[in-house]
Amino acid sequence: MTVTISINYKIEIPDCNIETIIACFRQALILFLSDFVNTILIEFAIQYMKEKTFLFACEGCGSNHGFIWKTKRARDTRISTVFGKIMLWQMQVMCKSCGKKMYITRKLLDIAPRQSMSEGTKKLFALLGSLTSFRVSEKMLKLVGVRIDKMSIWRCTQEVGEQLEFDLDLNEGGRGEADGTGVAINGIKKRGRELKVFVQETITGGVRIAGLSIGKYESDWDKLFNPLKSSLKAFDNFLLVTDGDSNILKSIKGVKILFQRCLWHLPYQMKYYLWKDGIKRKSTEWYHLLGKVFDITAIRYGLDDEKEIEGIIKIKNNRLDKLISYCLENGYTNSASYLKNARGDMFTAFSNKLKGQTTSKVERVMRTVNMRTKIGKWSESGALNAIKVRLAHYYNGFDPAEEMYCKEVRVLDAGE
Ligand SMILES: [Zn+2]
Repeated sequence: MTVTISINYKIEIPDCNIETIIACFRQALILFLSDFVNTILIEFAIQYMKEKTFLFACEGCGSNHGFIWKTKRARDTRISTVFGKIMLWQMQVMCKSCGKKMYITRKLLDIAPRQSMSEGTKKLFALLGSLTSFRVSEKMLKLVGVRIDKMSIWRCTQEVGEQLEFDLDLNEGGRGEADGTGVAINGIKKRGRELKVFVQETITGGVRIAGLSIGKYESDWDKLFNPLKSSLKAFDNFLLVTDGDSNILKSIKGVKILFQRCLWHLPYQMKYYLWKDGIKRKSTEWYHLLGKVFDITAIRYGLDDEKEIEGIIKIKNNRLDKLISYCLENGYTNSASYLKNARGDMFTAFSNKLKGQTTSKVERVMRTVNMRTKIGKWSESGALNAIKVRLAHYYNGFDPAEEMYCKEVRVLDAGE
């Protein structure tokens, strides 16, 4: 449909400084938008009313023809858009057969009854709230003249996040990796909770998110793996690299699990055990021990000669054994048993010649998580929902802005 829009406003303005004009436009924008929406809506409504069968069925008798206009402008209703809140007319029609009256403004806009926001708008705000803090979101919108408070952005992020679901894509690669990262949670001391991510390799060599959960450290892995059981069964072969408790997947035919200690996390976990053994943070001894751990866990990737890899692993294990003995001699029992436990699973991926790429890919996903969770205070579900939206955007193609930009609309100059 082609709709002609003419806008007619009187403005009071003290000077023609560009800042003043923009300040005035900021105020006018929302009024223009209300007029713009109302004008388009009424044109469509009139058109639909002329048609033999109406777009909607009567809420009373189910008939979809024989409607008459009750009013084109009943009391106003408020709708939130990405440009702010606009006031719209409530249009009302009446069914001739049963006399039932029906408001049609929200129906035409495709907004659910009593809702003040469309799903598309909600998704846009949710994306914003997942990209940066809710406070910064509010500030940035204010800069361009949009008034929405941070709580509303938080709510959008929560609602959209809750609805997002992840699963393995059967058309993508049969390889994946699971890893976890800490999130500070209100009311939970120290390390908070662990956000666990399951990434699947794509055929083009990238990654996509196949699962996401939040729970206790070093446990609660079933929350991540359980939903994936049925899709894992659909693969002839699936190779999963993880340092989490993947026992619930072991019975699935064709699923091979490589248990790999996360080498990146290991030195950081080591700090905790050094502390338990009473080694003063940042002392000479602390740096000495930590330096050794960093050295042992650093791996050079890209090698494919098996003998070379064997050689490296042998030397690294030797060094690790020496370090364990050193710890025992000095009474660092916690550190010693931690390293002893890790020993068997440190170089699994390396000796299987899995490329370092996989590891760095999941680490990049984790950095994407951390950049958002490090700002703000979180509840468990609050953090999970925000990260769901964030990761869906960066890795699974969730992009509400793109959905808006690809609509088939065209604005013509009045002269055209
Ligand atoms: Zn009816």
